[in-house]
Amino acid sequence: MGQIVTLDQNMVNMIAAGEVIERPANVVKELMENSIDAGATKITVSIEDGGRKLISVADDGRGMDGEDLSHAFDSHTTSKIKTTLDLRGISTLGFRGEALASIASVAQIRAVSRPVLERSEGTEDSPGANCIEIDCGDKGSIGPCSADYGTTVQVRDLFYKLPARRKFLKTANTEMGHISEHFTRIALANGNLDMTLIHNGRELYRLSGKQDIRQRIAELFSPEISENLIESESKERGLHIFALLGRPDISRTNNKFQYVFLNGRFIRDKFISHAIKEAYRGSLEPNRFPVIFLFIQMPYEDYDVNVHPTKIEVRFYNANLVHSQILGALREKLLGTNLETQAKFPAAMDSARLNRGQKIADAMAEFFKKHKPIQSQQQFAPAPKKQFNASRFGAGQMTEGQIGPQLQREFLQIHDSFIVAEADDGFVVIDQHALHERIIYEDLSRRIRAGKLESQKLLIPESFELTDAAVDALKANAELLEKLGIELAPFGPKTYAIHAFPTILAKAEPLDFVDDLIDLLTDKGAGLDAERLLDEVLNMAACKAAIKAGQKLSDSEIAHLLADRERAECASRCPHGRPTTIKFSATDLEKQFKRT
Ligand code: ADP
Ligand code: MG
Repeated sequence: MGQIVTLDQNMVNMIAAGEVIERPANVVKELMENSIDAGATKITVSIEDGGRKLISVADDGRGMDGEDLSHAFDSHTTSKIKTTLDLRGISTLGFRGEALASIASVAQIRAVSRPVLERSEGTEDSPGANCIEIDCGDKGSIGPCSADYGTTVQVRDLFYKLPARRKFLKTANTEMGHISEHFTRIALANGNLDMTLIHNGRELYRLSGKQDIRQRIAELFSPEISENLIESESKERGLHIFALLGRPDISRTNNKFQYVFLNGRFIRDKFISHAIKEAYRGSLEPNRFPVIFLFIQMPYEDYDVNVHPTKIEVRFYNANLVHSQILGALREKLLGTNLETQAKFPAAMDSARLNRGQKIADAMAEFFKKHKPIQSQQQFAPAPKKQFNASRFGAGQMTEGQIGPQLQREFLQIHDSFIVAEADDGFVVIDQHALHERIIYEDLSRRIRAGKLESQKLLIPESFELTDAAVDALKANAELLEKLGIELAPFGPKTYAIHAFPTILAKAEPLDFVDDLIDLLTDKGAGLDAERLLDEVLNMAACKAAIKAGQKLSDSEIAHLLADRERAECASRCPHGRPTTIKFSATDLEKQFKRT
């Protein structure tokens, strides 16, 4: 009896703090978000000892008068919502009225604020600054002090009365890593703000609100990332999508470089992650993750942020629409972009690197001396030998004029696997198998979309044995087989025979192909929807029918391949997302050979 008591407010706050304040980075995030909600144009974050000793966030936002400043640290106090109606359509980053109270319950606080004078109140005596101190929930009195417009909140000795929590904190470097990550997210979402991050007196970032987003990305990440982004923008059905899509060359082994922002809030969302993954399908190898910065704007009423204490998850009222709009916009952009891999040369050659660079340059000079004598002053002019003229070789595959201007290019095959061909600006090295695979894959997709593949009867049907599971799989996928132009019929107990096979796969062995197809259908195919399964089958078919590495090609075969490459939709990647082509630009070559 009498066991249940009401917790005092400070206990309530400490418990709430457990939800949102796990480590210094959460404090940094909450304080920075408050600054943004207060309309700041400049935010300075100073950290000492990974945030254990001090976290200070100073802004030039609208500030608070003495009364508000003293209220701000009480629990459930907010200026951002007033009624339950406001919960639908939250346009500020904060709204729960818990952050300051939580932080103040687990650390020593000193906050100074000076409100910006409203124009209408324009009197002589502009309101001054006030200062308040709070020690783990113990609020001191408020008093005037001198300060600039805006607010500065200093948080000292986080968790100092909670040794268990404090012990949980990691090294200053690790904590700083988390802080930098939150700082980065907020910096990406608020490109127009001046923002500085300082650790132990050392400036880690100083970002200007005047720089454009690419410059900001270069400073926050690296120039390499910033230079390898493709811009995409679309506005449809209430959704504004702006994306900077990382080229496949800078892809990662995890999804840490996927930054998704919804109306300025960093979020993680499984529908959006899935849309991103699908958009890159075929442009990236399956185990790689793209770098992407995705900025979505949509009406506040179309989603709920009140589902998670740290507000990193949201609930879309129409998740399917969000998924399909994002997938459509990103995929269209990626398919319409040349994702050719650029050859990487050693960067500027200082004396330490000169040696290695010189060796590469020498080796390349040697290569060209052997393979193609260039007359002294004649740079990159096509020699008369071994040219291909796309409109000439295209007979049967294309009609003249389909590929635009006539191409007169030089090429050669090396190691029976790669084709070196001249390009507008430099030359390309092509993986013959990967490129041919891509071309066949696109051809197959086109034909299947138009109907079914044309097939030819086998002179002698080829028979093979099947397990019950395999028979079931074939029956379940009868429609797919029909589309592919593969005709199978029972030939005896547990035996089937192939009667017809697609013409376009003439180079593949029918038995071998059907064998792998059955594996795919029984194994992987079981979990895939029809479209993905078809895609997998076409992938496999393209791989089997394509020219192999190590296969000697005649000049006319190479010319064909190069001509087809010009027409392909996405010639730079094989269907599995690996590069087909590496480009060496003339400008880079000239630099390497020290001609410029
Ligand atoms: P919330 O952000 O959810 O409203 P907080 O506890 O973070 O709750 O902040 C409480 C209130 O204090 C805010 O609603 C805002 O009115 C005020 N406030 C907090 N930080 C600032 C700031 N940097 N500048 C001006 N007002 C602030
Ligand atoms: Mg807040």
